[in-house]
Amino acid sequence: MNRKYRNTIIAANLKMNMLPSDIKPYAEALKPAAASHGKRCGIVVCPSFLLVPQAIKSFRDSRISVGAQNINQYESGAYTGEVSAPQLADLGVRYVIIGHSERRTLFGETDEAVNAKVHAALAANLRPIVCVGETLTQREMGVTGDVITLQVKSALAGVPAAKMRRIVIAYEPVWAIGTGLAATDEDAATVCREIRTLVRGLYGARIARAVSILYGGSMNEHNARGLLSQPDIDGGLIGSASLSPEALSAIIEIASHDYL
Ligand code: PEP
Repeated sequence: MNRKYRNTIIAANLKMNMLPSDIKPYAEALKPAAASHGKRCGIVVCPSFLLVPQAIKSFRDSRISVGAQNINQYESGAYTGEVSAPQLADLGVRYVIIGHSERRTLFGETDEAVNAKVHAALAANLRPIVCVGETLTQREMGVTGDVITLQVKSALAGVPAAKMRRIVIAYEPVWAIGTGLAATDEDAATVCREIRTLVRGLYGARIARAVSILYGGSMNEHNARGLLSQPDIDGGLIGSASLSPEALSAIIEIASHDYL
């Protein structure tokens, strides 16, 4: 990471886990780490929609922001079962994960939908955490660079330079998500560097230098140091390990160290 030019962010993707009643004790367990390190490290917790109001309440007096895991691309209307960006923003949500691989593969989310959701998030003043990543087959075929380029370009299509400081990009190789098999430090660093180069080509050096690029995929308290020491990795999107406030606190502490 490079704190001189960009923010460090540790974001927790709780997925469809926990009950509303679990959020308060989870928040209490996480607050000490946020109090000690929240100045140096942005902390975002993304629970499922139903838990969001309780999360807003429980994290109100802390440095922890609340994020959502998805939005609908429309502002309002006849979209039964969906949740819009303005609804979340009105509650106090600050971030939203967009284009997570589970949404792309399990729910058929296309690059076009991801792009529409990025615009919807920005319009509602939510910060999108845009997920991109290749499957194992794509990696083995040697097309990781092409896949990432297409996903990043599609997600950012039509996003003006002035809005780019609100965007966070998360490189999440699909084969590393929930498998316990994180990318090596070098592989993660290579793709994150390529993403920054791509942003440089699209928006210029100043914006590329300032965009926070996270790594996600089986990051935990044991492998975080190596991953977060890479110059182009500015934080992590954490799934499984974030269910333990102790593990997440340890990652936050690592991400806040001076030596990174
Ligand atoms: C994720 O789903 O965004 C993720 C990174 O999960 P995990 O940490 O469990 O691989």
